Amino acid sequence: MALSAKSVDAVKGRAGVKTDTVLRIEHLSKNFGSHIVLRDIDFSVRSGEVVCIIGASGSGKSTMLRCINHLETPTSGEITYEGKAVGGVHFDLSQYRAKVGMVFQSFNLFNNMTVLQNCMAGPVHVLHKKKAEAKQDALFYLKKVGMAPYINARPSQLSGGQKQRVAIARALAMHPKMLLFDEPTSALDPQMVGEVLAVMRQLAKEGMTMVVVTHEMQFAREVSNRTVFMCDGVIAESGTPEQIFEHPQNPKTQQFLSRFQ
Ligand code: ADP
Ligand code: MG
Repeated sequence: MALSAKSVDAVKGRAGVKTDTVLRIEHLSKNFGSHIVLRDIDFSVRSGEVVCIIGASGSGKSTMLRCINHLETPTSGEITYEGKAVGGVHFDLSQYRAKVGMVFQSFNLFNNMTVLQNCMAGPVHVLHKKKAEAKQDALFYLKKVGMAPYINARPSQLSGGQKQRVAIARALAMHPKMLLFDEPTSALDPQMVGEVLAVMRQLAKEGMTMVVVTHEMQFAREVSNRTVFMCDGVIAESGTPEQIFEHPQNPKTQQFLSRFQ
């Protein structure tokens, strides 16, 4: 894939990035049995930052996001969000997941609910919002992702791109402070990738804090403030998109990126 310099700066220089670290990972390791998947990872995200994580299949990208979202428990190490430990006795998982939303490759919509109900379920059951208010909010976010005409449809009636846009609206309806995306366009037919990336681009522009695992190199290059390359369970290299895509230092980064040229 050609990495044109066109509009590289489209989203750069956004006013949103602040200096405060909202998510901090220190010495994170994760094993599945004897299989070491993450090795002593240090990683942090600042408010308003868009971090893209790239790397080959099996390098541990999903496991790291799943540890952040507490879908996996770290074998060792610390994850804190706004200074508070993720996991442990004083941890409120459902409140945390409202603040730190996740969008999956496989959408994970509730198939027995309509599009509107999908976007109301969390606000009503987790945030205890009144139904009328949750509905107004859901409609607002569905409109934002261009899915307002489909509020009464079931997920099975939608294309992959439409499902993913509903999944993003559902996450937004929780008023998250940060969104994690795990290869949100990898399960989509090529013609639907653009509509989902356009929604994500818009969120980045509006200052949403985002961690995005992706194989869309053009997106990472244009939209991220920082790009992280993972390889064999470690962060092999991290830097501005210019540093990673134009002047990668690690031979493994160079080798990985050469596949996209
Ligand atoms: P990536 O997202 O970069 O493709 P993953 O984090 O999904 O990588 O996987 C990293 C490694 O961890 C792979 O070898 C994978 O097989 C292994 N792995 C992931 N989840 C599990 C699990 N629940 N049980 C055992 N092994 C797992
Ligand atoms: Mg993965």
